[in-house]
Amino acid sequence: MAKPKILVVEDEPDILEVMQYNLEREGYKVVACRNGEQGLSRIRTDDPDLVILDLMLPGMDGLEVCRQVKADPVTRTIPVVMVTAKGEESDVVLGLGLGADDYLVKPFRPRELVARIKVVLRRGPLREQGGKGERVVRGSLAIDLGRHEARVAEQLLVLTPTEMRLLHFLASHPGRVFPRAHLLSRVIGEDAVVTERNIDVHVRALRQKLGEHQGLIETVRGVGYRFAEATR
Ligand code: CA
Repeated sequence: MAKPKILVVEDEPDILEVMQYNLEREGYKVVACRNGEQGLSRIRTDDPDLVILDLMLPGMDGLEVCRQVKADPVTRTIPVVMVTAKGEESDVVLGLGLGADDYLVKPFRPRELVARIKVVLRRGPLREQGGKGERVVRGSLAIDLGRHEARVAEQLLVLTPTEMRLLHFLASHPGRVFPRAHLLSRVIGEDAVVTERNIDVHVRALRQKLGEHQGLIETVRGVGYRFAEATR
């Protein structure tokens, strides 16, 4: 099997070196880029399996690179892991909204970096919204969107259409964090008209109905929600 190719866009030489060393030691092939323009052009020519993207870059910043990668049908399926400084959760929210697949907060340990990369590579790119009737099973939870039926531990859940779509969407992408605005547009189909906190109301109701299984929907502070990665 060919070595997965990881393209790293990072302007700080020390961090770049640490990433390159640790990723190569894990058997990945690494393409290193020092700025956004170079990163974007190498993403288009080198077709990497994954991109690690620092957000604070001179010139074209990481968010703009992410936006362009995810707007281009040729590159949009390449997973992007954003790297951001501590306390810049608002950038994380923007990046995830632009289609980034995951994020790391500096300073991170090399082991954390490698573990995250492995998960994202295994998970693959975010698929477009599943077709009608798609069935998702995660541990004791089973959702059949077409039949509008959800069960946890064989018990039927009585859900509103919005709760059903929300649960189905989150469960379709376990471990992936979605900002509130993203959930609103994907699940409710409304944009700026409703406040982002509207999604909290649906999540609260959903958790109540999930009862002892409510831990399946995790809150990511300052960012949004995700479906627990480990199924139980
Ligand atoms: Ca930087």
